[in-house]
Amino acid sequence: MAILSVEGVRQAYQTPTGETVALGNVTFSMEKGDFFSVVGPSGCGKSTLLSIIAGTLTPTGGQVRINGQRVEGPSPHIGYMLQQDNLLEWRTVRQNVLLGLELRHTLTPEMRDRADGLLETYGLAAFANSRPSQLSGGMRQRAALIRTLAVNPDILLLDEAFSALDYQTRLEVTEDVYRIIRRERVTALMVTHDIPESICMGDKVLILSARPAVVQEQLPITFAIEDRSPLRCRSCPEFAGYFNHIWKELGMHETHGE
Ligand code: ADP
Repeated sequence: MAILSVEGVRQAYQTPTGETVALGNVTFSMEKGDFFSVVGPSGCGKSTLLSIIAGTLTPTGGQVRINGQRVEGPSPHIGYMLQQDNLLEWRTVRQNVLLGLELRHTLTPEMRDRADGLLETYGLAAFANSRPSQLSGGMRQRAALIRTLAVNPDILLLDEAFSALDYQTRLEVTEDVYRIIRRERVTALMVTHDIPESICMGDKVLILSARPAVVQEQLPITFAIEDRSPLRCRSCPEFAGYFNHIWKELGMHETHGE
């Protein structure tokens, strides 16, 4: 059974000047452990789609199922990673990592151990008692990811999670995040406007059309290298073909879009 199934999702917003149909009819599904990237023209409804999957927005039409169950409100199965790391300066790194568990009232000794294990495994144990401002930008994003994973979500949503970082840090953080997500076998859906990032991270790139968005194409991404990592993918011979294909698809839709 699919871990996530998005079935004919439609979203229309009422505005003072009429109706904006963001999502026309979006359908796709993910199996456990999949990593999908989502690209599409600006304003086509990518963030809207993530909000609907997270259950913070009820779609005008269609439905989302997680493990077969219909999402009908904010879903405890979802972890969300945003552009801002939202780490709280008055808490230590460890206290930040435990925050999600506290808020969900699931801070059991086992979950605390799991969180400490993640800090240890991913090189933040030495900074557990530091304040967020003492960390580099890359380490802050790693801490934010660990906080999200500490609650053991079924699906991780990433919304332009790296776009506030400078280029060098961004490359380092994508290496980090990719490695952690793969190692923890998390199912991840990542929205990005960065075509190379979509290719280097995803098993599949979902290309959305201009508004009203539909899934224009589900492009499987494979590289003939062992021990795949985002940086290595950038220098693979397959990379340029994928880039040109997505670029062309997105360009076509801008030409014919609104
Ligand atoms: P993307 O993430 O792809 O840039 P969004 O999901 O943010 O797109 O928005 C899709 C479209 O819906 C845009 O045209 C945006 O202006 C519109 N939109 C988003 N949220 C609202 C809202 N709360 N009310 C009215 N229109 C909205």
